[in-house]
Amino acid sequence: MNHSHLTVDAHTHIFCWGENPAEGFLSRPTQKSLISKLLLRLSGIKKERGETISEKIYHRLFKDLESTELDYIVLFAQDAIYKNGLDIDYHRTHFYVSNNYVLELATRSDKIIPCASINPMRSDSIRELERVRAAGCKLVKIHTAIQGVSPDLPEFEAFYRRAAEIGITLIFHTGYEHSCKVVSQKYTDPRRLARALDQGGNIIAAHCGTCTFWDKEDYYPHFIEMMHRYDNLYGDTAVMAGLVRLNACSKLAKEPEFITNRIIHGSDYPLPSSRIPHRKQVGLFPRYRKNLLDLDLNIKRGYRYGPRYENLILDLIQFEP
Ligand SMILES: [Zn+2]
Repeated sequence: MNHSHLTVDAHTHIFCWGENPAEGFLSRPTQKSLISKLLLRLSGIKKERGETISEKIYHRLFKDLESTELDYIVLFAQDAIYKNGLDIDYHRTHFYVSNNYVLELATRSDKIIPCASINPMRSDSIRELERVRAAGCKLVKIHTAIQGVSPDLPEFEAFYRRAAEIGITLIFHTGYEHSCKVVSQKYTDPRRLARALDQGGNIIAAHCGTCTFWDKEDYYPHFIEMMHRYDNLYGDTAVMAGLVRLNACSKLAKEPEFITNRIIHGSDYPLPSSRIPHRKQVGLFPRYRKNLLDLDLNIKRGYRYGPRYENLILDLIQFEP
């Protein structure tokens, strides 16, 4: 199927406060963190209708979906940290959204493409991979830093191979993470994706390995190095229009075509993009500024990445509506 007329945001989040922990939760320290407070305020979620914060987040997402110019969004689950590979470790898990919750939300809107999340350290990781695939899901996210997954470990090879065999594209978080407590930032180095890439499936490095200006390291050069080495590697632009990654969008746009042609649009919604550094692209008061999905899309459109920037993700998952 030809997808070239469609527009997709391939990296968005839903989160749950924790009223129903089976759906998802944020840990106490994460709920109380400055970054969570800022996010609720800057995104306008606080003012949304709903009794609980989870309801407000939910209503905000569905309101934005109604007014957006996007055809689809990819909505991420977020797996936990496990004790001995079996039970959720509530003490060490700071951000959890269950696969079933995201699969359920996808049934409530034609615009939602679900992305499951599986910690490959789970003893049932391959079974869960097959279960979500059977439920129609062709994308799986691994959060290296938050889930404590060093992607280069030999014991994950069977998981990566199975994903490739059943047509699942794996998305790895790359670049330093700041939204909640992490196990190790070192796990976010794109160089650690070699083992997964060697299994032959499609791999997306979320955030293209970018870090903020105050981080000790910058993994963006490692992302570019891996794009030279592997043609089954892709990158998404999530969070790159935020205030703390000032030149990330323009730097990426200057890369050679064989790299920009494998860049995929993603916002990191509901994390807000910043208009000020991108005023040349969208101006200071664009009409769509209240819809964070559309604001991010229009900022990045202004950088003119590859011709398939807005819909390449649909080819990767051989999407059929
Ligand atoms: Zn994200």
